[in-house]
Amino acid sequence: MKLVCVGRNYAAHIAELANEQPSEPVIFIKPDSAILPNEQPFFIPDFTNEVHYELEVLVKIRKVGKHIQQKFAHKYYDEISLGIDFTARDLQAALKEKGLPWEKAKGFDGSAVIGKWVPKSRYRDLGKLSFSLYRNGDEVQHGNTELMLWKIDELIAYVSRYFTLKKGDVLFTGTPAGVGKIAANDYLSGILEGEELLTVRIK
Ligand code: ZN
Repeated sequence: MKLVCVGRNYAAHIAELANEQPSEPVIFIKPDSAILPNEQPFFIPDFTNEVHYELEVLVKIRKVGKHIQQKFAHKYYDEISLGIDFTARDLQAALKEKGLPWEKAKGFDGSAVIGKWVPKSRYRDLGKLSFSLYRNGDEVQHGNTELMLWKIDELIAYVSRYFTLKKGDVLFTGTPAGVGKIAANDYLSGILEGEELLTVRIK
């Protein structure tokens, strides 16, 4: 399986990194080896001095699809969750400056945290989900899916023009503003609509 990630999907986050607002979604892939095993701590890798958390809403693909029409995209997922797209921001900045691919900064081992899956039917409107990241008990990120530049169904339609989506693939839908650096001994907690769906200890 693969993790399909969306960059620059919230205007306020684009501004905080001084990026240009894209005219199409920015897409990248993490390999399945990036998934942090359940209950395991995240170890800050030795090749970076600046790992950022990015809390994101996740969508689990339930069946194979290519060239999915936006109006049918909702048939391709039943479960959602929260995840963290850990990013070696210093390495990413160096790669971006040279126009090189981001993979080392985004796809390294442990860089993808996947929370507990929840049936989407539990929520009245997936376009208005409130979510927050707490770091050592303080809220550091807060987002709402209504602020996405491209909504879940638009993203599925867009991504599936390029990549066949398969059962079990996970879509990371982009991070809102408030990204920041983690440090050893941090404790992160992700809350979706009042429910804690992920926790991760930093080492
Ligand atoms: Zn991200």
